[in-house]
Amino acid sequence: MANGSDIKGYVHSLETFGLVDGPGVRFVVFLQGCSLRCQFCHNPETWHSGGEEWSAEKLWQKAFRYKQYWKSNGGVTVSGGEPLLQIDFLIEFFKLAKKAGVHTALDTAGQPFSTNPDWLEKFKTLMEYTDLVLLDLKLMDEDGHKALTGKTNQNILEMAKWLSENSNKMWIRHVLVPNLTDDEADLKKMYEFISTLKTVERVEVLPYHTLGLAKWVSMGIEYPLDGVKVPTEEQIKRAEEILHTADYQK
Ligand code: SF4
Repeated sequence: MANGSDIKGYVHSLETFGLVDGPGVRFVVFLQGCSLRCQFCHNPETWHSGGEEWSAEKLWQKAFRYKQYWKSNGGVTVSGGEPLLQIDFLIEFFKLAKKAGVHTALDTAGQPFSTNPDWLEKFKTLMEYTDLVLLDLKLMDEDGHKALTGKTNQNILEMAKWLSENSNKMWIRHVLVPNLTDDEADLKKMYEFISTLKTVERVEVLPYHTLGLAKWVSMGIEYPLDGVKVPTEEQIKRAEEILHTADYQK
């Protein structure tokens, strides 16, 4: 069995002063690899394996250099790509952070979640060292979700329920794309689902933006949302009202 220190993480990039992926100022690690193919993805270069190889210890030492920015509520966030594809590395990295008393957040789309006993055991271990999960919900309609991302949403919704039942804090995030993820009935269904969860601390609407377009083009992939506009203030407000985001801001 691999020793913790032997496990390597494959890192796409690092952000030393993140302000949007969890509370306070955060050191954000973007891991490489994702099995979803969201049409609105602004990081398609994280989809495939590869990236820079780091040990958890080396990455932790790098992150900890920025501790003076974190104050009382900041810390480290691991995002992606899909960080749960590297769950063994995540466990080692978050263990080091918690040993130093630092807040840890996991930014995930939940796609790798599985009730397979071996996987779930690892996930339980990871949750012991995770203070907050930022979970993306993209669409409630399963067929629509498959068309949008290439995969089912059933295990993602299962993950949200599991976190709720196991007292793990969550922020739910929804990327708003006009005519794609802003259907009123689907947003209402999403709110109904969120309101059944006991540990949601915040619900955020993230407006779609077109910054990823150039990356799709440079990778030679056809951009499915060519011509789709970013949502207006009014469209964002409407989605926030349907999802009752104000009820969750603490
Ligand atoms: S889950 Fe995130 S990284 Fe993966 S395809 Fe969707 S938007 Fe891109």
